[in-house]
Amino acid sequence: MQSVRGYDLHTHSTVSDGTQSPDDVVRSAADAGLTGIALTDHDSTAGWADASAAAREHGLGLVPGVELSSRLGWRSVHLLGYLVDPEHAGLVAEMARIQAARRSRAERIVGRLGVDYRISWDDVLRQTGKGSTVGRPHIADALVALGLARDRGDAFAGLLHPRSGYIEPHYAPEPAAGVALIRAAGGVPVLAHPGAPREEWALSADAIAELVDAGLFALERDHPENRRGGADRVDALARRFGLPVTGSSDYHGSGKPNRIGQFTTAPEVVARILDEGTGSAAIPPA
Ligand code: AMP
Ligand code: FE
Ligand code: FE
Ligand code: ZN
Repeated sequence: MQSVRGYDLHTHSTVSDGTQSPDDVVRSAADAGLTGIALTDHDSTAGWADASAAAREHGLGLVPGVELSSRLGWRSVHLLGYLVDPEHAGLVAEMARIQAARRSRAERIVGRLGVDYRISWDDVLRQTGKGSTVGRPHIADALVALGLARDRGDAFAGLLHPRSGYIEPHYAPEPAAGVALIRAAGGVPVLAHPGAPREEWALSADAIAELVDAGLFALERDHPENRRGGADRVDALARRFGLPVTGSSDYHGSGKPNRIGQFTTAPEVVARILDEGTGSAAIPPA
């Protein structure tokens, strides 16, 4: 496999909606020749222990992280939090609240789908790991297993589309509160994939200014799901606010076409994250 040195700062495991266990994500990163990764499961730090053990075994750098859900009106906004304290009471409580809201929301979505299709909550549970953060991707996997969708992408374009009539949002804190919480937990907050939504749906410069005031560290500029011109728009925002930029793959195993190491983050930005994050310790590469 072609070697990609550097850090991929956004990956998912079966602790949320990735398809590989935390140690397999680490193995995939090592196989790809990466220097290190951040494991950033949605609203959970439960994969850190297994990922850390695997990182030590493979000599891979590991930045423990989380992708915290937030919400501004109808907009879902994701915040990467690196090196947070996984036992910070406020963060633990917020992640538990979001996880519970995600689960009851998913049950209601499946209830509505079940009126029209032969899908039950048990079908979805079969697709989730124990204690994993439940999301539409697990409902997608159940739809695929039942022959009701070809793959996750097909499910998201159809029955799981926000306008399908089956979907509702879930509770999440406002983005500025999420940024402040990540900082309070000793972490380094980065706005995830701001170049991915359609331009008219992306956060406004004013909204980003509020996040900067709350302690935002950087913008994730390079991302596989960026729209045309998305990276340039993010770059312009970063220059306007004097923020660093990151690059990452948002790897979900076979759950998305994104390849691990598809984008990486400049070493000096990784160094600043390691310097500013005080809530937990990174594992250095061998
Ligand atoms: P949810 O958090 O339940 O609203 O679902 C959103 C999650 O689904 C995000 O974390 C994405 O990683 C994933 N996702 C969104 N669109 C797609 C897609 N087209 N294919 C696969 N996964 C997707
Ligand atoms: Fe995801
Ligand atoms: Fe995300
Ligand atoms: Zn992600």
